Amino acid sequence: MSKLQFHLFPCLSDNYGVLMHCPQTGATASIDAPEAAAVDKALDATGWKLTHILLTHHHHDHVGGVEELKRKWNCAVIGNAGEPHDLPGLTGTVAPDSTYDFTGRKAHIIATPGHTLGHITWHFADDGVAFAGDTLFTLGCGRVFEGTMEQMWDSMQKLAALPPETVVYCGHEYTMSNGKFALTVEPDNEALKARMAKIEKLRAEGKPTVPTTIAEELETNPFLRAGSAARFAEVRKAKDNF
Ligand code: ZN
Ligand code: FE
Repeated sequence: MSKLQFHLFPCLSDNYGVLMHCPQTGATASIDAPEAAAVDKALDATGWKLTHILLTHHHHDHVGGVEELKRKWNCAVIGNAGEPHDLPGLTGTVAPDSTYDFTGRKAHIIATPGHTLGHITWHFADDGVAFAGDTLFTLGCGRVFEGTMEQMWDSMQKLAALPPETVVYCGHEYTMSNGKFALTVEPDNEALKARMAKIEKLRAEGKPTVPTTIAEELETNPFLRAGSAARFAEVRKAKDNF
């Protein structure tokens, strides 16, 4: 099976959009749809034709472009059937712990509640890639808006258990702020210090710090490394006030 291709692009104030393309079938998925114009521009740049939108959660900065893109491309729009909030434009649903067939490639739907109750992560195990939306960020994690700290910790644990080489795309470029905070939690973490030096250079050059990998996050992300739900909650609350 040919390799999937990816195209990451910034949009809105600090969001990332990402296109995933199968060269064999021509299928192209937008993971979330933060902004129709930015997704269209990315499609122009790649020459790919939008066939799918795969949603992680209901927040506007992830679904705001769905209706316009669907009108233009007549694409499939797939989201969590158990999402208690309305997801716009759905043409199909997936259930957590089930699989979704993206033109012959299997996505495992991982329930990752916490940031929102219906948040899901799309894991393409055979391709070694996961789309974590606003659950896991490079050196950080999403705010816990709808779920409990325990739920979010469970979600982090599920992601921590993915193969370490898994490439993780997330929804935002929050890494500088995340990294500064991470250093207050683990000032003696050498891997974290080394990583922050690289990240500062990337950001100074205007380059993204996304995607990341599970292996890198296991070494440097204070939320993944919290060790217990209680400690996770402390760290999350400290970040909220950072
Ligand atoms: Zn969100
Ligand atoms: Fe977001």
